[in-house]
Amino acid sequence: MHPAAIITGASRGIGRGIALELAALGYDLIINYAGNETAARATAADCLARAKAATRTIRAETCQADISLAPDRQRLIEFAKDRFGRLDLLVNNAGVAPTVRADILEAGEESFDRLININVKGPYFLTQLAARWMIDQVQSSQAPKAVRPKIVTISSVSAYTASTNRGDYCVAKAALSMLTPLYAARLAEHGINVYEIRPGIIATDMTGPVKAKYDDLIANGLTPIQRWGTPEDVGKAVAAIAQDLLPFSTGEVINVDGGFHLRRL
Ligand code: NAP
Repeated sequence: MHPAAIITGASRGIGRGIALELAALGYDLIINYAGNETAARATAADCLARAKAATRTIRAETCQADISLAPDRQRLIEFAKDRFGRLDLLVNNAGVAPTVRADILEAGEESFDRLININVKGPYFLTQLAARWMIDQVQSSQAPKAVRPKIVTISSVSAYTASTNRGDYCVAKAALSMLTPLYAARLAEHGINVYEIRPGIIATDMTGPVKAKYDDLIANGLTPIQRWGTPEDVGKAVAAIAQDLLPFSTGEVINVDGGFHLRRL
């Protein structure tokens, strides 16, 4: 039986990059999305092709669910139980930027509530559901001895970097960063390791509207590794975790940011 993963927000961008890397490793995949069914189906098809190229056979299923809504989170987990009957990896990737970037002296509560609901509450309670299922699996005598489920959450350099024109996003990502230490501490006794991946500037639809600004910043030395990050860069970090290459590390933050976080003088 193949290992199985749920990746939230896998229709596009970073989630899609993660799905492709896991496909190459032979993971069965639940490709979650919010509304873009066409993109989700394309990702699923591309994952099958990617697995085939790596001489693997996998299953890739798409599942619409808005992770900010409790019934949708429950439905996503039930869908995964029904399709694959096991969960080896949850990747909390889905997240949104504010629709309009607004100065913190002007920004309204509506955008704040939206970002907290999707970027924090969604992964926080989806992790709770997934963790309960993972514990059951580990404790089940049916489970193969090798089962060591894992949880990965995609936060952002915005967890610690102040952008005064999108405070709601920064506050949400800072809050999200507490998910990993909490669940790492709680789940270690069950052999479930929990990780945070903190991407820097990654080329996706999310950063499309600010491409010119970031092109300039990168060209002027914002990041020691002087290029945009790609969804594949993040996918490879998740792949390392998925292969259990960090077995004695939990609660760890892995920066995938071209060195953005380094203080330099
Ligand atoms: P993206 O290209 O805009 O893709 C967002 C993905 O999330 C899509 O698959 C979208 O589904 C899904 N999604 C949005 N709202 C959802 C909801 N309520 N429920 C379920 N799925 C939802 O974004 P991205 O750049 O790949 O970002 C992915 C994650 O990385 C986010 O958490 C983001 O904050 C984080 N991140 C991004 C960057 C960057 O530079 N791009 C940097 C650091 C961190 P649909 O296709 O159906 O809309």
